[in-house]
Amino acid sequence: MSTKENQNEVLMEENNQTTEVSPSEKKSTFEKKALLVLSAIFVAVLIGAWGYAMRVQQGVASNSVTTHADPAALLEIERMRGIASSQMDNGRAYFLLGSQNIYDKQKKEKETLADALTAFDKQHNLPGISDVVKRIQDLQKKNQEFFDQAIEHRDKKTESRIVGQFYQARTTPLRSQLNEAFDDMAHLHQVQIDKAQEEIREAAAQAEIQIPFGMTWLSGSLVFIFISMGFLVVRLLRKQSFQLAQQKRLYDEAKKAVQDRDETLFAISHDLQDSLNMISSTAERMASTPQGLDIVESGELMKSTVTNIEGLIKDIRDQKNTEMHGLTLRMDQLSVDNVLDSARLQMQPLAKQHDVRLQIDSVNPPVLAFYDNERVLRVLANLIGNAIKFSPKGEKVVVKVRSDQKYVNISVIDSGPGIPANQLPGIFDNFWQAKKTADKGAGLGLAIVKTIVEAHGGTVQIQSQTGRGTTVTFSLPRRRPVGASLKKPNVIVKSNHAPEWQ
Ligand code: ADP
Repeated sequence: MSTKENQNEVLMEENNQTTEVSPSEKKSTFEKKALLVLSAIFVAVLIGAWGYAMRVQQGVASNSVTTHADPAALLEIERMRGIASSQMDNGRAYFLLGSQNIYDKQKKEKETLADALTAFDKQHNLPGISDVVKRIQDLQKKNQEFFDQAIEHRDKKTESRIVGQFYQARTTPLRSQLNEAFDDMAHLHQVQIDKAQEEIREAAAQAEIQIPFGMTWLSGSLVFIFISMGFLVVRLLRKQSFQLAQQKRLYDEAKKAVQDRDETLFAISHDLQDSLNMISSTAERMASTPQGLDIVESGELMKSTVTNIEGLIKDIRDQKNTEMHGLTLRMDQLSVDNVLDSARLQMQPLAKQHDVRLQIDSVNPPVLAFYDNERVLRVLANLIGNAIKFSPKGEKVVVKVRSDQKYVNISVIDSGPGIPANQLPGIFDNFWQAKKTADKGAGLGLAIVKTIVEAHGGTVQIQSQTGRGTTVTFSLPRRRPVGASLKKPNVIVKSNHAPEWQ
């Protein structure tokens, strides 16, 4: 692709960027959205982790309370056991001493124990407790019966000591039965307490498993989110720096395009100025000293210079049109001599002016080719013009024609300074010029040569050796393009690409 095309593309790219959202911008928007989503996930994970922690905590708590164990119940049982024993002791003391105080105390203890048993039964809803409470209440009833019998004996004036012994003898087995019942009651509670402690231990063990499990998930998720976020941030930053670099590149290229354009304008104006100077000095000489001048020769030189100016203008126009719409060719089947004769006529004065010999021999026998006469004349004018410009005085520029079955090959040969090998690639690009010859032309000639030749379906090659000269060879097709009718006087090819030939 030529430099000019590059520049145009750069400028178009820049324009596009101001009006459209570029794919890289779309990607940045995607990354910003992804960052937003990740932040939302981050918050969700934190909320989830908090909920999980609460659940674990609740689990531990609820596990520990599924068994209702009350260590204070054991104290209450011992208190009731004490009341029951004291009541019996006081009963016996009453029969021995007959004190009303002791009687009241014993009675009060009986009522207290009855109330305590009822309350205990209600409060501790454990399996088996009610049966034990019932057993104790029955034993208390028996105790009351023995107490009442002892009262009867005392009322019959039985001796106090005997009554006391009677009561003691009757209540001794009751005491051990009551103790057994209270032991059973305490055992039931102890079992419950042990069970509750076991459950607490289990819940704690469960929590020990669940908490590290939850922590692993939480930290894993957080690490994943942070890594993803970091990755996205790095990508965003890289994209931004890439966009900055791209903008700088576009700026530099646009700047270079402007610089190239200025240089080209300078070179073109230089070319035009040289040609105008030539016309002007020839005209002056014709006006001032017409007798010492070959009028015909001067006229031809002026005509040739004007033709070169026109050629340069056509080159600029052609190259611009080709970039925009493709090149339109008016092709006829013509003798190659047609265009060679025109080139000889047009370029001879320039050769003479540079003191260079121009040798363009006619092709014998004549060879036909399919070409646009005016455009191929431009090709020859450019190549012969370069050869003349770069040839030392007294040297020869030769145009040679060879043909094969398909193509006619035309070579323009000079023995000028040649072109260094490292400068050959890109020599057909628009506005390319070897630095040292930058003042000898606009750098457009070889680019238009290539455009025109390739539009014909031909190729152009350059061979050059520094100090020994340059040969530029281009080919033209000998036959009409596929699909074109021979009856038609000419064929119009409008394309950026080469047509196919039969
Ligand atoms: P222009 O001649 O207008 O500068 P061209 O595209 O025709 O542009 O040529 C580009 C450059 O290639 C020339 O400036 C010159 O450096 C080099 N060049 C072309 N033809 C020749 C030649 N026959 N001998 C030496 N250098 C040449």
